[in-house]
Amino acid sequence: MHFIAVVLACSFVALSGASHEWGYPDLDSNQDEPFPNWGGLCDIGKKQSPINLHVKGALKGEFPSLEFKNFDEHQKKLEMVNNGHSIQLSGFEHELSLSGGALLGDFVVEQIHMHWWSEHTINDIRYPLEVHIVHRNKLYPNISMAADFPDGITVIGVLYHVSNQPNPAIGSIIKSLDDVKKYSAMNKPTKVKDSLAVSDLLSSVDGYFTYAGSLTTPTCAEAVTWIVPTETFPVTLDQVNEFKEIEYDEGKQLHNNYRELQRENNRAVVLVQTSQQKSAAALQLHCLSLGALLLLSLVANKFLF
Ligand SMILES: [Zn+2]
Repeated sequence: MHFIAVVLACSFVALSGASHEWGYPDLDSNQDEPFPNWGGLCDIGKKQSPINLHVKGALKGEFPSLEFKNFDEHQKKLEMVNNGHSIQLSGFEHELSLSGGALLGDFVVEQIHMHWWSEHTINDIRYPLEVHIVHRNKLYPNISMAADFPDGITVIGVLYHVSNQPNPAIGSIIKSLDDVKKYSAMNKPTKVKDSLAVSDLLSSVDGYFTYAGSLTTPTCAEAVTWIVPTETFPVTLDQVNEFKEIEYDEGKQLHNNYRELQRENNRAVVLVQTSQQKSAAALQLHCLSLGALLLLSLVANKFLF
């Protein structure tokens, strides 16, 4: 009797740990389907992601520039996998490292995956695609250990806007998608055919939002320093629709894989702008005050003469 209970308990644990045990509502079939509770920190955490990023609500920040190493290196041994929740790339030949900005320490790229539509919104606007470049703090030997520490992980979330202009880097990823689309290919890594440099996905990081948050999938660990560039990059809807054909179950397509917005809970969201962006903003303000002066002198003229 006891033996059966233990076996049942173990199989329950094994099941609840399986990747298909959590998921997203299919918003293409029913727009009102609620987002499910994923349990644990996902439900009770106070520093969860994603959130809406407001230019007006952000705090101004100034930091040394971000330093990227080897991001422009063309990767020839990348692997792609359909893990039932996203498309993920890994297998970087050399260490791609990120430091500088508000980061204390060196972070290395572990994997890249995407969300269709975007998880973060900027000024309440949702974008068609968000790519997550997941970095581990070199202090910790692997990503699951890093997830236990508030400075363990940094994710760059790159947003793409709708355009008629296909995105060549996203196009390179799409070329290998057919190999992993079907449910029968789920969790079976395949080689990425095209050579791709990570810097092709984000040509530059001029200005960005940064805040302390979480992974956006279970376990929702609150270990992530988010960096979301304010600049967005073009992608076509046809390109995004290719990702929507990924199967997570027999004949079931993953039409969307973004998590709903989480409470900000009075967290500091910092906006870091480059000197170029600041001078553009200053110029705008200068023109505005010149305009106001001109208007004033016109009004004065009208009354004086
Ligand atoms: Zn993600």
